Order: sequence, then C-alpha cells, then structure tokens
Amino acid sequence: MSSVRCPICQRIMDPRGPKEWPDKPFCSKRCRMVDLGRWLGGTYRIDTPLAKEDLETELAHSSEPAVPSADPHREEA
Ligand SMILES: [Zn+2]
Repeated sequence: MSSVRCPICQRIMDPRGPKEWPDKPFCSKRCRMVDLGRWLGGTYRIDTPLAKEDLETELAHSSEPAVPSADPHREEA
C-alpha cells in the first residue's frame, strides 16, 4: 500500500487516478509551477501569479483621477 503525496504541498493524491492527475507528480499546475520556480530561481517561492483581470482592475483603479481637474461650473471667469 503506497500513498503518493505532492512534493510541494504534501497533499495525498490517489495514484490510481492518473487521468485526473495531469501534473504528476504534483497535485496541481500551481504546485508544478512552484517546483519549476524553485529550479529556475533557486529560491523556494509559493507566490501565486495574479490573475490578469485582477491586475487590470488594479491598474484601472490607480489610473482613475481621484479629483476632477476641471469644474464645469466655473467655466466663465
Ligand atoms: Zn500540491
């Protein structure tokens, strides 16, 4: 009897279900990327890449002018 664990998050996985386990030997794509990043960067990083939508939302908020530059009621001097 052997249990397979994800080397990254130690989650126990079912070795009988390889079809639902495309990222073998990792439990998920995320864990695979974590391992890949460890190899590439030499550091153990568990940061999840931000979703593109989240990033765009953030940018949209930051570029939005907080204060209107011109007041339409003060057009006539
Ligand atoms: Zn995992």
